[in-house]
Amino acid sequence: MNCFTLSKPAADFILGIDIGGTNTVFGLVNEAGKIHNKGHLPTEHFLKPEDLIKSILDVLQSWKKQGLINTMPQLAGIGAPNAGMPDSIIDNPPNLKWKGKIPFGKLFTEITGINCVLTNDANASALGELHYGSRRKIKNFVYVTLGTGLGCGIVMNGELVTGINGFAGELGHTIIMQHGRMCGCGRRGCLEQYCSANGLVKSYLEILKNSGSEIYQNVINDPPDAEGICSRALAGDEAAFYSFKYTGELLGLALANSVAYTSPEAVFLAGELSDSGELLMAPLIQSFERNLFHPYKSTVKLMRASFDAKESAILGAAALAKKELIIV
Ligand SMILES: [Zn+2]
Repeated sequence: MNCFTLSKPAADFILGIDIGGTNTVFGLVNEAGKIHNKGHLPTEHFLKPEDLIKSILDVLQSWKKQGLINTMPQLAGIGAPNAGMPDSIIDNPPNLKWKGKIPFGKLFTEITGINCVLTNDANASALGELHYGSRRKIKNFVYVTLGTGLGCGIVMNGELVTGINGFAGELGHTIIMQHGRMCGCGRRGCLEQYCSANGLVKSYLEILKNSGSEIYQNVINDPPDAEGICSRALAGDEAAFYSFKYTGELLGLALANSVAYTSPEAVFLAGELSDSGELLMAPLIQSFERNLFHPYKSTVKLMRASFDAKESAILGAAALAKKELIIV
């Protein structure tokens, strides 16, 4: 049910947790930003948030029992979908089974005895890049994760932009297509319905259907995932190729718009879809440069993030806990 990477951490460490729709990953982060003991649990197996929290506690206790850690962590930072500060609530997460406003932070501290702070998962990943990334001189950036959905965190002047309720930077829920695809947020045409792993699959099916391709009937009941569409494009499937081109062009436009209202030094990309290579990056870079507001032409870097998005979220959540919960 779970597996771990283990090494004995220093005494001074913070628990970083990333709750995703499929997996929850966590680790103990030391002062230098190195993740020591690592664990993961299948989020979708836990019908209640309390059950997931108890399982995380079980893992921590087993590490202590085995002598892999000397003491239990005192602090935790948690990245989760639709999570906001300062109330540490997860609010109707579209990709999790748990519904309503979940007082996750309160539950976590009650069950584990560990003080915690919550933020949106993409914000946590952005903080990981800010504090531990390979280009830490960059203090103004937009961080985008292209996974099942599209997450985004914005860092300006070395600080995460949170807005009044912690939901600032939700680029995935800006509308790119009027009367477009239905989104889990209840509106139509949101960017993440187009520029994400799920969005790519929808585009592929649409292109096949509209072109009258016979492949459509073969795949409609069991469509390939983003990786499968990537393989098909590389094997010469034109619809697969054009679905990447369409995704890249729309994303380039949206990212160019984000530059106009944030004035960043860089835009970082992470997440499974950003691993698609030239299929996505060629149309994306072209569209980004073409649509940039002229003061930013050829000045804003579009590049891969330093870490995998989940690893970055563990690091960033721990950094947030250190900032918010340690009184100096
Ligand atoms: Zn939406």
